[in-house]
Amino acid sequence: MHELGITQQILEQALAQAQAAGAERITGLNLALGALSDITPDSVQFYFDMLSPGTPAAGAQLSFRQVQPVMRCRQCGTEFAWATDGQNCPNCGSDRYDLIHGREFYLESIDVT
Ligand SMILES: [Zn+2]
Repeated sequence: MHELGITQQILEQALAQAQAAGAERITGLNLALGALSDITPDSVQFYFDMLSPGTPAAGAQLSFRQVQPVMRCRQCGTEFAWATDGQNCPNCGSDRYDLIHGREFYLESIDVT
């Protein structure tokens, strides 16, 4: 259910940006969504359709850009695309690394009129 709160935050951000830009209507929200996030576009769309009526963002198109998972090796700092579990750093072979991209969900930009 946390998609409800997250979608609310995204909507508020979009409305604030539109207001700052002096825009009357928001026609689109461009969102970045990590491939490993547990958030699904369908649920965001569902909550957006629930929350946006009566706001300048009503009827806006949601566009999702998928962010591929990227890891950073703790040993050597190499960043590499994550493909499967049990993968090792392609530079030094270490199996100790942190996810630096792949779980994010944020508003990249809005389209306004
Ligand atoms: Zn490494």
